[in-house]
Amino acid sequence: MNILVINCGSSSLKYQLIDMKEEKVLAKGLSERIGIEGSRIKHKTTGKDEVIIEKPMENHKVVLELVLNALVDSEYGAIKSMDEISAVGHRVVHGGEKFATSVKIDDEVMKALNDCVDLAPLHNPPNIMGIEACKELMPNTPMVGVFDTAFHQTMPKSNYIYPLPYELYEKYGVRKYGFHGTSHKYVSLKTAEILGKDIKDLKIITCHLGNGASVCAVENGKSIDTSMGFTPLEGLAMGTRTGDLDPAIIPFLMDKEKLTIEDVNNLLNKKSGVLGISGVSSDFRDLEEAAEKGNERAELALDVFVNRVKKYIGAYAVLMGGADAIVFTAGIGENSAEMREKICAGLENIGIEIDSEKNNIRGKEAVVSKDSSKVKILVVPTNEELMIARDTKELA
Ligand code: AMP
Repeated sequence: MNILVINCGSSSLKYQLIDMKEEKVLAKGLSERIGIEGSRIKHKTTGKDEVIIEKPMENHKVVLELVLNALVDSEYGAIKSMDEISAVGHRVVHGGEKFATSVKIDDEVMKALNDCVDLAPLHNPPNIMGIEACKELMPNTPMVGVFDTAFHQTMPKSNYIYPLPYELYEKYGVRKYGFHGTSHKYVSLKTAEILGKDIKDLKIITCHLGNGASVCAVENGKSIDTSMGFTPLEGLAMGTRTGDLDPAIIPFLMDKEKLTIEDVNNLLNKKSGVLGISGVSSDFRDLEEAAEKGNERAELALDVFVNRVKKYIGAYAVLMGGADAIVFTAGIGENSAEMREKICAGLENIGIEIDSEKNNIRGKEAVVSKDSSKVKILVVPTNEELMIARDTKELA
């Protein structure tokens, strides 16, 4: 059984074709600059050379048509015909309160997805476009929606309600939803597998540290709290996003700098985070290099990032009454030994002891804590596509 996994952004589309018998990637690719000049698809079938398809691609439907053609191409494709795709799994960013699990997509689900657009105006519309394009091109293939928010629907109300007038939650759904759920779920399950324990007996703190970053408290396999909130802006300092902020700063700056709502959104989402502090880059490789050369603001940006992750680890360890494991994943979590070391430094008194030698790895599964460490520290490369494919297989 082959599952096609689709992840649509506003101007990009990522895909993977996965053979579920051995959970093996048959082909994958990325299309960028959809709807703008220079659009292209980078396609790679496992065991064959990468090809680049450069054509005008005015919308997601055109891209999907080219992707499907690439998948069945006699020279660089992975399958003989589209009949070999049993189902399609779509990543959907926001499922609101409606979706606590993945779902098979039908008309009712499409309506509910459209109802969630208000909650994620940047993310959900391209996800919906991708589903609609797929439905047109593959009308008889089952489709499944897998939500970034679903894993966090197990949070207790006391962790997801903001201290705002309660009516605003009832009227607009203003509450914490949390994101990166598919990744937090995947790495927590993998952690239980690596430690040889039942996930129902574990308290795990998962740190998804990429350009977007969040921490999650996973107790007995369930998310009980996470650092992202109503939107993916809350929590950690990120590449270009502020994370937690005194809300009074917003009206203050709007007044002083004469900012519109759009300006503020842009400031908080695109110009802040480690980029805003350092003035150097949002990329941690650049920041680590600049800090090493003595750039004080790059060093400060890294310190702010590290301190926030520490604070969430501490908070979640307290919330769960302890932790059995801390897991690092995503671009920074998987690749930066320096960041992992700095985050864990000084936490020995709460049983977190990183082993510098074991920690000296990149991008592979490993336990990197000292044998004496009460809390195990792991690196687990995330695999959201596989998680989406598994849910899709089950539902389709
Ligand atoms: P993601 O959003 O998961 O793709 O992660 C992107 C982030 O991972 C960027 O900030 C990259 O700089 C960071 N990253 C990737 N490789 C490394 C590395 N070797 N060292 C430090 N950061 C890295």
